Amino acid sequence: MSNIKIHNLGLPRIGRNRELKKSQEKFWRQEISEAELLQTAAEIKKSNWDLQKDFKAIPVNDFSFYDQILDMSCLLGAVPERFISEGKVDLKTYFDIARGNCGSCASEMTKWFDTNYHYIVPELSYETNFRISSDKLFEEVKECNSEKARPVIIGPVTYLYLSKAVGDLKDPFELLDKILPVYSEILLRLRAAGVKRVQIDEPIFSTDLTEVHKEALKKTYDKFSVVDINILLTNYFGSLGENLEFFFSLPASGYHIDALADKSEVAKAVDVLPVNSFLSLGVIDGRNIWRSHYKEVLDIIKPAHELLGDNLWLAPTCSLLHVPYSLKKESDLNEDLKSWLSFAEEKLEELLDIKKLLGGNLSDSNILIENSHCYEARLAHSDLNVQAVRKRLGELTDSDFERKSSFEKRSLEQRKKLNLPPLPTTTIGSFPQTKEVRQNRARFKNGSITEQEYSEFIKSQIIKTVDTQKSLGLDVLVHGESERNDMVEYFGEHLAGFAFTKFGWVQSYGSRCVKPPLIYGDVYREKPITVEWSSFAKSLDPSKPMKGMLTGPVTILKWSFVRNDINLSEVAYQIALAIRDEVKDLESAGLEIIQVDEAALREGLPLRESDKKTYLDWAIGAFKLTSSGVDDETQIHTHMCYSDFNEIIESIADMDADVISIEASRSNHELLEAFSRFDYPNEIGPGVYDIHSPRVPTVDEFLQNITGIIQSVPVEKLWINPDCGLKTRNWSEVNGALQNMVSATHKARQLVK
Ligand code: GLN
Ligand code: ZN
Repeated sequence: MSNIKIHNLGLPRIGRNRELKKSQEKFWRQEISEAELLQTAAEIKKSNWDLQKDFKAIPVNDFSFYDQILDMSCLLGAVPERFISEGKVDLKTYFDIARGNCGSCASEMTKWFDTNYHYIVPELSYETNFRISSDKLFEEVKECNSEKARPVIIGPVTYLYLSKAVGDLKDPFELLDKILPVYSEILLRLRAAGVKRVQIDEPIFSTDLTEVHKEALKKTYDKFSVVDINILLTNYFGSLGENLEFFFSLPASGYHIDALADKSEVAKAVDVLPVNSFLSLGVIDGRNIWRSHYKEVLDIIKPAHELLGDNLWLAPTCSLLHVPYSLKKESDLNEDLKSWLSFAEEKLEELLDIKKLLGGNLSDSNILIENSHCYEARLAHSDLNVQAVRKRLGELTDSDFERKSSFEKRSLEQRKKLNLPPLPTTTIGSFPQTKEVRQNRARFKNGSITEQEYSEFIKSQIIKTVDTQKSLGLDVLVHGESERNDMVEYFGEHLAGFAFTKFGWVQSYGSRCVKPPLIYGDVYREKPITVEWSSFAKSLDPSKPMKGMLTGPVTILKWSFVRNDINLSEVAYQIALAIRDEVKDLESAGLEIIQVDEAALREGLPLRESDKKTYLDWAIGAFKLTSSGVDDETQIHTHMCYSDFNEIIESIADMDADVISIEASRSNHELLEAFSRFDYPNEIGPGVYDIHSPRVPTVDEFLQNITGIIQSVPVEKLWINPDCGLKTRNWSEVNGALQNMVSATHKARQLVK
């Protein structure tokens, strides 16, 4: 047996059957007691720990009732003032910070690096009273009750990097000296509880470090080195790049790197690894769901193993939080596809296999042979190599990525055709997804109603939606998207190359889980997807422009698990061609306006400056490929529901959509500044209504908002719309809000005449 050590950095914690989600939600509705919720948690933790009992270390505190950053905030006592709790933070306060309570709004939530997981943003101020304020970490160590227990905590520098400064505080890093003593105390307490090793996660190493970050890192780990505890310094979500030598210069007893991000870093790491410390190589992809190719993994490991022997550890690249639990229950998946996949449990088994293979026992070579066969079979599978798709991609020319004429020329033709009033009003696409809508979809899926019946039902919803918009007096109508479960899943279900699991849930935030589609093969469209619904809607009122609604290629890609055998850009272009066909079919069916949503474009931005241009080139290219096939008079809209555009505003302009609708109602000012400073060339609809809130704004509020926006966006370019789709609102909220929005627009038109 080889002496190689295998370990893991963290597991999903929602429970195999989403038990945690179910218990949490019951607890919030006061249907179960805190003790019952704790019992569910205990079972999940126990079962996770059992899975890793043959490993060198068992991560503890990777479990969380909501979010690991919020856990860290509570541990450090960084509770926003409006939630002030005396002494320890109890579970109620903890959930209040995450979800808000009657008197106080929740803390903000944002994407965890470039993943689809969201963390609760710590709010730090000069007043923050840092002191150990939660026992969760220490309790879990006790609960695990194993020599191998290795607590996981977020390192101070990554923690500060992810925090936001409130009050007079300018920069969270000013507080480093205040939080370090609390961290040291945490380490000492762990030591006293018998813990030998701690895993300290510092994924900030996958970003461009500033001098401030570097100084903070140096100070932090120098300080920790005096505590008699072994530290595993952990980086993930990318290569170390320029930070490599610095990373290994910090005092620690072990260092974990993502060895798949840049394989050439393994040799460099071995070179600079401090004596008497160990190197942990992340060699199993922790963020994607494909089975590893053992031969490639062994090629990465072997040279390091020869040099390091006992001092080499193996792990997944990052915590397995980002993949589903287990493949075991996926009985409906195609057998071939299933044999190519690996979820969290299978990834742990892969580590055990690799350990065996490194042991070099001949009887284990079957493992290698079977794995190679499976890998080769996947690559050779006809679904992954659809000649017609490859040929079409190969024949693309620059002109496929450009509209026929300039925006100026298109805009004239569109004005002639659409004949819209100034400040045209529209919505972002979806209307309330009521219980009735969801129930009918479920009935159709489980076969209790026929396709015919379902189609009649959807048509009745479209009629209702169109009638509502007509009576409200909106200028550009939509069909309401009641046929869609989700803006990505719906398209995935209608495109070749996609597959769906039954239980492949991953945590998105708190109790919210998503089940991302798998893009496993070449993508193409077999037949039109949305044309029937959109043209039905159009037929109900031929006098007003009807907007066709599609999801863009980057968003479809970003919210799926994507094949790893070809470049992401190639997958994006394949999806783009499929959606391009849909755009053209909608145009032929008489839809004058087509909107291609790119809700995920901004979040796909890579962590390092040097990678951004490449990403933006293909992402914007994919959007243009999708939308450029139409005539000048067909108006292309896009929608993005966020407002931190500053960094990518030029790329947004390069998309050359005739109209862009964006979220603006919560952070109007900055966004509009960015658009006016840059002099955005095309038309814009900055959201005038925050659809995330059930509150119906008054006509005056709308009017104030609109007149405010007119200060920075020329009236000829301005559209009036909510900031996102209305699917999460109910009909009475929607009716009320849209009515006031339209009335305010009429008043605004008088003002600007
Ligand atoms: N068209 C989609 C909707 O209205 C857009 C959703 C989104 O941007 N997240 O629901
Ligand atoms: Zn949106």
